[in-house]
Amino acid sequence: MSHHLSSSPLSRYLAIALALVLVASCGAPPSPTPATAGLSAGATIPAPSPAEATPRACDPDVPGATAAGPAPWWRDRIFYEVFVRSFADSDGDGIGDLRGLTNRLDYLNDGDPATTSDLGVTAIWLMPVTESPSYHGYDVTDYERVEPGYGTADDFKALMEAAHARGIEVIVDLVLNHTSIEHPWFQDARKPGSEHDDWYVWSTTGVPFAGPGGQRVWHKDGDRWYYAYFWEGMPDLNLANPDVTSTLDGVARFWLDEMGVDGFRLDAARHLIEDGKKTENTPATFAWLEGFRSRVKADRPDALVLGEVYDATSMSSSYVREGALDLTFDFGLAGATISSIRSGDGASLGAAQQELAEAYPADGAATFLTNHDQNRVANQLDSDPAAEKLAASILLTGHGVPFVYYGEEIGMTGHKPDEQIRTPMRWDPTGGAGFSSATPWEPLNDDPVERNVATESADPDSVLSAYRSLIRLRADHPALAHGDWTPVTSTASSVVAALRQADGETVLVVSNLGETPVTDLELRLASGPLCGSPAAKTLLGPADVRVPTLTATGGFEGYVPVDRLEARETLVLGLGS
Ligand code: CA
Repeated sequence: MSHHLSSSPLSRYLAIALALVLVASCGAPPSPTPATAGLSAGATIPAPSPAEATPRACDPDVPGATAAGPAPWWRDRIFYEVFVRSFADSDGDGIGDLRGLTNRLDYLNDGDPATTSDLGVTAIWLMPVTESPSYHGYDVTDYERVEPGYGTADDFKALMEAAHARGIEVIVDLVLNHTSIEHPWFQDARKPGSEHDDWYVWSTTGVPFAGPGGQRVWHKDGDRWYYAYFWEGMPDLNLANPDVTSTLDGVARFWLDEMGVDGFRLDAARHLIEDGKKTENTPATFAWLEGFRSRVKADRPDALVLGEVYDATSMSSSYVREGALDLTFDFGLAGATISSIRSGDGASLGAAQQELAEAYPADGAATFLTNHDQNRVANQLDSDPAAEKLAASILLTGHGVPFVYYGEEIGMTGHKPDEQIRTPMRWDPTGGAGFSSATPWEPLNDDPVERNVATESADPDSVLSAYRSLIRLRADHPALAHGDWTPVTSTASSVVAALRQADGETVLVVSNLGETPVTDLELRLASGPLCGSPAAKTLLGPADVRVPTLTATGGFEGYVPVDRLEARETLVLGLGS
């Protein structure tokens, strides 16, 4: 890159310009100086610094902890979704368990910020750990008992203690929409007039309606029909019944107070209460969640209430806007990220990023690539490591609170049926992949043997190494972790670019989604928050980069940060001093 830079007329101009400008910049973190109103009479107000004397006043109005009270703990976290059954088996029965996860916590975060050998995630979402007859656990039979195949309540508490000691917060899946058909509540409810009769949703007059896709949602039991949206084995609870609500409030308190979790991921949150044939996003569902969230906060003000709202960005964000949930997963951006990489279309990704940035309140969007319900990102990107690393860079430099699904960081593959997107983690190149000494509950996938933690740890170019450095990059830069998002226009159609800014730090992120290098990149920011005399420091990508020349409106025109952006490459520049 350097030979391009030293020979181009533009770079010579920039070298001269750089020599002339002051290096002072508004990009420096604002110092916590007291407001001038607090000065005593006669005090001297200091003269403006050179940065304040630039044609455009520096804009200190960037998001920060002081804007609306302390930031929630999850704002700067990087979450990791764990399927306990498939993560690590400690006792040789082929089933992953809580002790296995605890034993592997150092892989996720060893608690020492100085080391770079761990992944560096700072929060975990555990898929259901409550007793269930199924392998996945989304049909609960006892909300306050740890799934015996995973261990005991003491094992869970030991996991919590070990996680917290490493600076990892833990949230658990809470499945409130339905129980297992084997739950004692439902077995009792099958008797009309029993104590639990009204805990579920019944029809005595035939099938009232079909699901939105025409699927069967009412199921015969004796001479009645019960409502079960997802599967006949998972009857929907009647959350309009105050007894059910108060019981589930108690379940939440149990996990917060007794088990010490830091919050919940609410499964199927948009489906809680039906209204006639309307099976999702009903006003009653919003109201129920708002009440549940407020009661959780009354118990533990810092508990996270995250919801799965499998819907468009406009709908999932509305749950956050209306105070029903703290955070929702954004499926719109997740899908757009992968489809835009597949098509090499930077503009479509930029549009989805903009929609997310505009739809959610601050710190309200949970971002991800795929989860346990979707074909793995490696499959969707044809197991191309460059595309997987690009996807990771978009997720981990982007707006929102990022979630990584276990195995994504090593490029594990898997496509539906569901069991095959939830296969055992590959820890090493041995026959059992280090998951279990026994035959695993589900066979390992058929990935090449080198796709595992140990082998990829030794390869600086592996997908795992990219995840480690990207997570560290995000953790080290508040502009990436929680900065606002301003779109930057690119002349190259395969490029998406944005400015991220927080706590006085300004970062430019530029990604080439295409499969060929870009050599005619020009960036434009019509008006922006830039001011003073920015530098340009590479945080990710080639070292030789140019500094933007600012317009009078705090943006730039025809900015060529690099002569060449490689295929699938993300460039991250710090534009501070
Ligand atoms: Ca086990």
